[in-house]
Amino acid sequence: MTERKKTGKPGVIRLRERGQVAVRGKILAGVMTAAQMAAVARIADEFGNGTVGLTTRLNIEIPGIDRRDADTVAERLREAGIEPGSTGAALRSVVACKGTVCRHGCCDTQGLARAIEERYGGCDLPRKLKIAVTGCVNNCARVQSNDIGLMGCRLPAYGAGECNGCGACEAVCREGAVRVVDGEAVHAGEDCVGCGDCITVCPMEAISVAAEGVRFFLGGRAGRTLQVGIEADGLVAEDEVPVIVGRLLDCFREIALPGERLGEVMERVGQDAVFAAAGLRPRQ
Ligand code: SF4
Ligand code: SF4
Ligand code: SF4
Repeated sequence: MTERKKTGKPGVIRLRERGQVAVRGKILAGVMTAAQMAAVARIADEFGNGTVGLTTRLNIEIPGIDRRDADTVAERLREAGIEPGSTGAALRSVVACKGTVCRHGCCDTQGLARAIEERYGGCDLPRKLKIAVTGCVNNCARVQSNDIGLMGCRLPAYGAGECNGCGACEAVCREGAVRVVDGEAVHAGEDCVGCGDCITVCPMEAISVAAEGVRFFLGGRAGRTLQVGIEADGLVAEDEVPVIVGRLLDCFREIALPGERLGEVMERVGQDAVFAAAGLRPRQ
């Protein structure tokens, strides 16, 4: 039974102590203003036990609230620009790593999370659905354990300018995908994971961007059952990501049986059908 069914209110979660609840507030892309933090602190002092918890999906949770105060707390959070939610059979808060500001980031992770939230945030679904966005192959957001995982990628093209053989690209590449041979960088494309780091460090601008975009992984989940998301072929342009996510949500709504996660739907109807509904195909 979902939390929403248990309490009937999005974001309100029963606790062990009888009559007490926690209220969860959705923090868009995991970023709060100082004013929002101050508002949350005041609410926790006034209605809770003076503490605020952070969830694994980058939300805040205020515990120790008398359940009769839950509506008031929810309203106070809304006044601070924080929507109660991310519980029950719905699209849960989109997790984003710090790729927007991280030096390794190959996409605007926080912008993508906000764009998805703005279009579909909290929408009702047959079962919970989790989305995570990570900025590069370092995968700080662990995207393959989400129903929909998104990963930024930037592939290099060598020979864009004059190489001086400095070796900076070889030194930064953890995959050993580039070697300096006779004063010239040689790229082994099959070993390259598309982190884009060599492009950034080259002092000669001898490495350009061959392709960049977002990798999709579908059907992952963690918890009682661990299922690794299956990767789609190719890269999707950032501005096309929300549309593809929308197709996947429609598909999930239409064909999921009660209680099924996206990965279970893929097992039942075949992964190709779900990928095709989104305009994707599985990577071979
Ligand atoms: S996944 Fe990459 S971009 Fe995101 S925080 Fe980690 S290192 Fe930075
Ligand atoms: S993009 Fe990353 S993995 Fe590929 S060659 Fe450059 S540093 Fe190595
Ligand atoms: S970093 Fe640039 S200039 Fe230096 S070896 Fe690599 S490609 Fe050549």
